[in-house]
Amino acid sequence: MSPIRSQGTALITGASSGIGAVYAERLAARGFDLLLVARDEARLQTAAKVLSDKYQVQVEVLKADLTLKDDLLQVEQRLREDSSISLLLNNAGVAANGPLAGADLDQMERMIQLNVVALTRLAGAAATSFSAAERGAIINIASVVALIPERFNATYSATKAYVLSLTQSLQGELKGCGVQVQAVLPGITRTEIWERSGLDATTIPPEMVMEVGEMVDASLSGFDQGELITLPSLPDAADWQALVAARLALGPNLSRSSAAARYK
Ligand code: NAP
Repeated sequence: MSPIRSQGTALITGASSGIGAVYAERLAARGFDLLLVARDEARLQTAAKVLSDKYQVQVEVLKADLTLKDDLLQVEQRLREDSSISLLLNNAGVAANGPLAGADLDQMERMIQLNVVALTRLAGAAATSFSAAERGAIINIASVVALIPERFNATYSATKAYVLSLTQSLQGELKGCGVQVQAVLPGITRTEIWERSGLDATTIPPEMVMEVGEMVDASLSGFDQGELITLPSLPDAADWQALVAARLALGPNLSRSSAAARYK
């Protein structure tokens, strides 16, 4: 199959498995050339061969551990210098299990490094390049745990709340610059992330688990519809809009010259 026309290059972090690997396939099918980033180079090379053969697109592999500054700067540099890149999928991420008390804090720090620091630096580099070119798209993979932090590991949930917040602000900053911004908030999706973070996915009720292909297709549908926030599972989009409206309604009262009566 040959693509209809070139869409530029999609830089995908965490492209070696799960959500990132499926996005790679779907974006290649849409005619994007690919720049695949992750640590497992052999896996990326295998995917590159399959996708370039099947979709007749250029696929390059860039091995990087995004928790390491030098590797991260190398990817950032590509975003700054390679004008063919028209889409950044900030997807690489890890989860964790258990309470913060007693947690391996070095592991928590590495998670923040990947889920927050790397994502921010890459989004910043892409925002700079794409806004100068007046085109491009930044997709950040958050999670529904951004909305229900009481239900999951504290640090992981906080990293995903950060991704949601960053994306909402970024969209405002890039308004009128020709750059599309989206945060995707998947629910539980069947990928390797569960075993990697020491969670037993077999204990999760099957009606709560989405297959990764369906999740990515829904997210791309949200992207095509120009959504800022995509919640693939949520049946009624009005529920999300109501939450946004309630939050914004707090606005006029969040910063005032005197304390509320109940504190006096
Ligand atoms: P996954 O299958 O474990 O994929 C994670 C990807 O991130 C892999 O390609 C992995 O590749 C890469 N990665 C991990 N550590 C890295 C590092 N230090 N440097 C560079 N790449 C690294 O999990 P997934 O479910 O597809 O997760 C993708 C994103 O979706 C994550 O941000 C996750 O938080 C989010 N998400 C997942 C779910 C879910 O239920 N699955 C739900 C909500 C949100 P290498 O090991 O080759 O480096």
